[in-house]
Amino acid sequence: MDLKNIVLISFGYFGKELSEIISRDVEHEFSLPVILQEGHWDLSEFYNPLRRQYDANRLLDKIDESFATINSKTIGLFNVDLFIPILTYIFGQAYLNGRCGIASVYRLSNERYGIINDDQILVNRFRKEVIHELGHTFGLIHCTNTTCVMRSSTYVEDIDQKKHFLCHKCRSVLEKNHLSQD
Ligand SMILES: [Zn+2]
Ligand SMILES: [Zn+2]
Repeated sequence: MDLKNIVLISFGYFGKELSEIISRDVEHEFSLPVILQEGHWDLSEFYNPLRRQYDANRLLDKIDESFATINSKTIGLFNVDLFIPILTYIFGQAYLNGRCGIASVYRLSNERYGIINDDQILVNRFRKEVIHELGHTFGLIHCTNTTCVMRSSTYVEDIDQKKHFLCHKCRSVLEKNHLSQD
């Protein structure tokens, strides 16, 4: 496999600054160029009226079908409330060792929890989420290191505890996986 780049597709408006910070950090973490794109989908077909949320499994499949290529890792960026059947909500998900993932900013803002908004905190959380999902596409599983970006997060507080980069152990797995794919 000849991996050429990482593609971030925004479905919704995230602001230039947010997209640029995230793409810079992603580029740095995975040493691959990042291409920013915009997606224009009518998300209503993914909406589940009973849960009033969006079906993350179907969104992920659709990204895979419509955008993913063998030479890229593709992440769809959303601003809707994502769910999978077994969980109340998710921040994002990805195919392990696959071509794509999704992440949503929806549950990451302080405003969502009745606290005053802070753009810095939001950017920080979102970049961790995006890097986390990308890590899965590179074959990384959840890490037990408290500050590693690959640690699983249920609440935003969990995200705040970790850094936006891989620990040494995950980095060496990434490098090993990456080399063996070439
Ligand atoms: Zn995960
Ligand atoms: Zn780790």
